[in-house]
Amino acid sequence: MKKLFRILLRQHVGNPSIPLVKIGNNIEQGELIASLNGLGSNLHASVCGRVAEVSGQAIVIEAYEEQQKNYKPLSRKGDLIDVIKDAGIVGMGGAGFPAHVKFAADLSGGLVIANGVECEPVLAHNVKQLTDHPELIYKGLLYAMQAVNANKGIFAVKGKNRRAVEALRDVIKDRDIAIAELPDIYPMGEERAIVREILGARLAPDQLPAAARAVVSNVETLARVAEAVDFNKPVISKHVTVAGRLKNGVEPQVFLDVPIGARIGDLIEAAGGIAGEYGEIIMGGPFTGKSVSLDDVITKTSGGILVTIPFPHESRKMGILVCACGASEARLREIADRMGSPVAGVEFCKQVVEIRGNLKCENPGNCPGQAEKVLKLKKSGAEVLLISNCTACSNTIMGIAPKMKLSVYHHTDHVLRTVNHSLVRRLKS
Ligand code: SF4
Repeated sequence: MKKLFRILLRQHVGNPSIPLVKIGNNIEQGELIASLNGLGSNLHASVCGRVAEVSGQAIVIEAYEEQQKNYKPLSRKGDLIDVIKDAGIVGMGGAGFPAHVKFAADLSGGLVIANGVECEPVLAHNVKQLTDHPELIYKGLLYAMQAVNANKGIFAVKGKNRRAVEALRDVIKDRDIAIAELPDIYPMGEERAIVREILGARLAPDQLPAAARAVVSNVETLARVAEAVDFNKPVISKHVTVAGRLKNGVEPQVFLDVPIGARIGDLIEAAGGIAGEYGEIIMGGPFTGKSVSLDDVITKTSGGILVTIPFPHESRKMGILVCACGASEARLREIADRMGSPVAGVEFCKQVVEIRGNLKCENPGNCPGQAEKVLKLKKSGAEVLLISNCTACSNTIMGIAPKMKLSVYHHTDHVLRTVNHSLVRRLKS
């Protein structure tokens, strides 16, 4: 059977890339197939093959049966930022912001934070890379510091990931680079939460870390920077965690360097295939992921592929409480619908503010108290709650909702139940 790779023209923040190839072209792995258009990123072929389709959304490559061992290297020209731009590097932790724009900042002696917090439950690919291949990330951090003129670097990692912390200690040779061990709460990996924990600076929702003379970059992004600079390698693959209701068991499986454009169904098959009836397939983590189909494809920002158990049935009226760092209102309505529950009311955590059409939290992960919101949902007729809140706020809700005779679902429940993970409810004291 023909193996097709669908490379989306928009898989980053900014404009869709402009195709440079036509149907029938034979292309090499690593070849530039679409160029950035203003804010955006270059796209390179993840496999060698023949171009089967070019549309306004994607370039489809029919892969040759025999694949090359080597990719076509970037042609070396320009400075560090040019190399990062040519390689098509974007924020690979999920944000997709073009790295050549982020690293064009001048911090005049500030700090680059390598974000290895991986705060979404279940996901494991960042921690695996930190544990098994820390040297590439370390080099990427040094290049990023050089690009933004920083004089300090910090690896942000959850303290519970002891092996990753030890592996980093073994590769760090520079006294200006340190490790910050952060607590295991959600959303500890949000960049303003990291800046607050490490620098003690509380940024406004519309401020970037640069306001605290810092740049935060996901660890896979930094490794891709090192690959581009040291090996002239463009971004053609992505590290992904696959987990859930799979024939191989529910433990997370990490796949390093999955070709971009690979079909999700094929990746799930490589992980053992789906074990029986399932609820949905999520791309991303339990908190921020979205429901996708088997025919969707891996992009530069795909992190997790999670196959869940079926949704529980719930016929009572649902009150929805939206968090800026969790599922959107639309996603929560979708889950309520799939559970069979009519929505009685919707409220937003009081720290949610809207910035240019996006929801942001004023102080991520620090609960402002939810009694007023829970009371409002009860008054609107809710008999049960569906919440998407951070660890701290979920903890608060659990202190009051049962007293008001409201049962509580968290939107991550069906995912976490699938993998026998503890539910987001009460913080351990
Ligand atoms: S404080 Fe509110 S908006 Fe912020 S992360 Fe927690 S639940 Fe979300």
